[in-house]
Amino acid sequence: MPRPRRSFFAYASALLGLLSLMAVLCFHHPELLTSKEFRAVYNEQFARHLLLIGLAAAFGMGTLAILRDRNKRIALVGVGGATLAVLLGGTNVQFDSIGKTPYSLGLDWFVISLFFSALVFVPLEHYLGKRRISPLRPGWRTDVGYFFMSHVLVQFILILVTASTSTIAGLAAFPALKDAIQSLPVWAQFLIAVFVADLAQALLHRAYHNIPWLWRFHAVHHSSREMDWLAGSRIHFVEIVLTRSAVLLPLLILGFSAPAVNAYVILVGLQAVLAHANLGIRFGVLEYLLVLPRYHHWHHARHKDYLDVNYAIHLPLVDMLMGTFKLPPKQEDWPEEYGVMKLETVPRGILRQHLMPFQGGRKFDEYVD
Ligand SMILES: [Zn+2]
Ligand SMILES: [Zn+2]
Repeated sequence: MPRPRRSFFAYASALLGLLSLMAVLCFHHPELLTSKEFRAVYNEQFARHLLLIGLAAAFGMGTLAILRDRNKRIALVGVGGATLAVLLGGTNVQFDSIGKTPYSLGLDWFVISLFFSALVFVPLEHYLGKRRISPLRPGWRTDVGYFFMSHVLVQFILILVTASTSTIAGLAAFPALKDAIQSLPVWAQFLIAVFVADLAQALLHRAYHNIPWLWRFHAVHHSSREMDWLAGSRIHFVEIVLTRSAVLLPLLILGFSAPAVNAYVILVGLQAVLAHANLGIRFGVLEYLLVLPRYHHWHHARHKDYLDVNYAIHLPLVDMLMGTFKLPPKQEDWPEEYGVMKLETVPRGILRQHLMPFQGGRKFDEYVD
């Protein structure tokens, strides 16, 4: 029996209802649930307007799905979440001044980031997708779990990354080099920072592919069977900390100015999502200058000729220098299948995937191909 078609309105309502509820909780406990760093980027008025839009859309789309008798239970999650959000204060929710706490979660970063990513990429992939896949393809729950973890734990990741890099960077400080770099215009610093960061990332990425115990962590990222904007979130916590440290270290040692580093951080956030997105747009020669979906999709290909190529996430130039550049010249050549060669070596679900690298018993070659 064919599965009944899922209602877009019901699922969109559920997403917005739950995000609205989380947003109201952020207003109630800003010192615990919102991150100081991200709060500096938006203001209260913006958050209240966004909440209003989320609540209205959750009610509207949920009601529509219920009236049309489609995925009613899912739609009820949306309407129920939005109702609870209103009962807890809705857009008028008051909060006292934000107290100081040593640790806080980045729930605001998760809510706002997921909202805008879905808003941009769900329609883009629907109309311009290379493959026709639903946003609710197999494994989407796992990947939302990863998206949640990497955003909500942002401060803890930052603490671990800073702790591991600042000591080494302090030992390897070259004031003259730093002065020379900071005398350059910001755009030039930004270009150098992107190249240096990508080179560091690509070298570590090659190590993930070639060193047995590192591959176990990275295999999790390669276990996605479908590629879309959300699939790139599937990264083992250890890999997140290791990669961010490896990238930050040369940036600290070279001493780029804050605007150049901030511009780099924005770029890496956007390009990492874009590179995994299911977008069949033809970019022509641009594919040789910038890492775009087809480039990184070949990195994820379940194809023996493409196991260890295309490590860069910003500039194909980095792979050309490392001798690991490989892209079929025809724009219509895309991988037929994604995932690790031995599918059974990576379990399903975020928890089991996190435990997998620590579980011995299997030989390395069982994990590789
Ligand atoms: Zn890889
Ligand atoms: Zn990837």
